[in-house]
Amino acid sequence: MKIKCPKCKENAELTMDFSLVKCGSCDLEMSYGEYVKFVAHNEVKYSDILGDYTGSTEGQSAGSLDEWD
Ligand SMILES: [Zn+2]
Repeated sequence: MKIKCPKCKENAELTMDFSLVKCGSCDLEMSYGEYVKFVAHNEVKYSDILGDYTGSTEGQSAGSLDEWD
């Protein structure tokens, strides 16, 4: 199955038996156990960025104030 590569953020592949994570983009190859630890470790750093991401999906009509001129 496809998962996000923790290293380069491209699509990585998790083997069906959940034993190995492979990324073709950066040649990452680690066990799923290592992957989970890696992601959990980085989750702390990225949580702020992800928070901004979800907030920006709200639709906003930009520049509408200019029409009052
Ligand atoms: Zn990668």
